[in-house]
Amino acid sequence: MKTDDIKNLRIGVIGGGFAGATAGLALSQIGAQVKVYEQAKQVGEVGAGIGLRPATVKLFKRLGVFPAIEAVTSPSDYFEILDEKGNVITREQWPHLEEDGQRHNTRMIHRHDFVVALTGQLPEGVLQLGHRAVEITDNGDSATVKFDNGVEETFDILVGADGIKSRVRALWSDSQPVPANAHAYRAVIDGSEGEGMLVDDNLRLYLQGETGRMIYFLPLRHRGPNGQISFDITVPHPDTTWNPQVPKEEVLEMLKDFDPRLLSIVEKLDWDKVNQRAAADLDPQDKWNSDAVVLIGDAAHAMLHHQGQGANSAVLDAGALADALTDPANETVAEALNAYTAERQGPVQELQRISRESWNAESAGKTAFPEKESIDY
Ligand SMILES: Cc1cc2nc3c(=O)[nH]c(=O)nc-3n(C[C@H](O)[C@H](O)[C@H](O)COP(=O)(O)OP(=O)(O)OC[C@H]3O[C@@H](n4cnc5c(N)ncnc54)[C@H](O)[C@@H]3O)c2cc1C
Repeated sequence: MKTDDIKNLRIGVIGGGFAGATAGLALSQIGAQVKVYEQAKQVGEVGAGIGLRPATVKLFKRLGVFPAIEAVTSPSDYFEILDEKGNVITREQWPHLEEDGQRHNTRMIHRHDFVVALTGQLPEGVLQLGHRAVEITDNGDSATVKFDNGVEETFDILVGADGIKSRVRALWSDSQPVPANAHAYRAVIDGSEGEGMLVDDNLRLYLQGETGRMIYFLPLRHRGPNGQISFDITVPHPDTTWNPQVPKEEVLEMLKDFDPRLLSIVEKLDWDKVNQRAAADLDPQDKWNSDAVVLIGDAAHAMLHHQGQGANSAVLDAGALADALTDPANETVAEALNAYTAERQGPVQELQRISRESWNAESAGKTAFPEKESIDY
């Protein structure tokens, strides 16, 4: 689209998570009039860590926000998969991108720091907190949103970045989250409580192949004087309640064959502060956009967390949407939204498929990165 046309575009982004915040940045940088509407009254995220992949890091460099991200991350060398006793099954260097003499590494970050760093880089006035979209109308060449605080706005483009239970997606899809019959119990602990296991910046997955029980041990050594550890227990569980309440004793029993140091960490966890969540994803969605409304992030393609690609994909969607709008080959908004979907849908749906396969002893023995053939890091 032409620069002048982009300048006149009014874009509303629903959701101020990783997808929405990055969209706010990328779309305001191409000159559009952007507002990001987040239902929460303040910016925040659950206490857990994630790995930012090289393509995400590269995009943040392009958007000029890398210094803010760099300040709250540690670069990591490899991802290691071990059995439950701690015997190494696979150790593989993170895929990395090298371009124009620059190397983009995988970096470990706390989710809260991530969303705070991103939203902190948004131009003044872009982020509108305390706005919950409650009614959305697709008018064909625009979209109108009513918020729970009485505000009503009409946009040339409405971006649904409102997560797995997206209200925007409901314009055309009745898809609901698909339970994975598994739970994730997540906590961030001080490095001093890590039983001496916080030794470097590398992600370790302890996997009991035959039961599918696992612990993701993700170092956040840049946090606090002792560093911190994001400790994520994922286990098969038939209870699909969104926020289950499983007692610590039950979890300890499930993990009883794990390395005693890991068990000791679990024993010492303040269980009231552990974030419990039933794992769920979405079936692949055929439709990601109309002529004026488009989905990004989990709203379009929520995936299970086993490949650590959900937030990364959400960020890359936002960059791809901005690229599609500035591409001169796309003369109209509708063409740009179609081009965005055409670019992102295939690779991301492949990530959804691979993530659903989770881990077992056989797959873990082959590679730590089964997705590497499907995406350009
Ligand atoms: C256990 C677990 C571990 C994970 N680990 C990783 C990992 O290691 N790496 C990785 O890349 N990904 C990981 N993910 C996936 C990642 O969390 C998601 O893919 C990511 O959060 C998606 O970002 P998003 O912005 O699309 O959606 P969300 O993070 O869900 O953000 C949506 C935002 O929209 C707001 N919102 C919702 N409805 C409305 C409304 N009506 N009006 C206004 N605002 C609204 C919400 O408040 C929220 O702020 C993990 C997920 C889980 C559950």
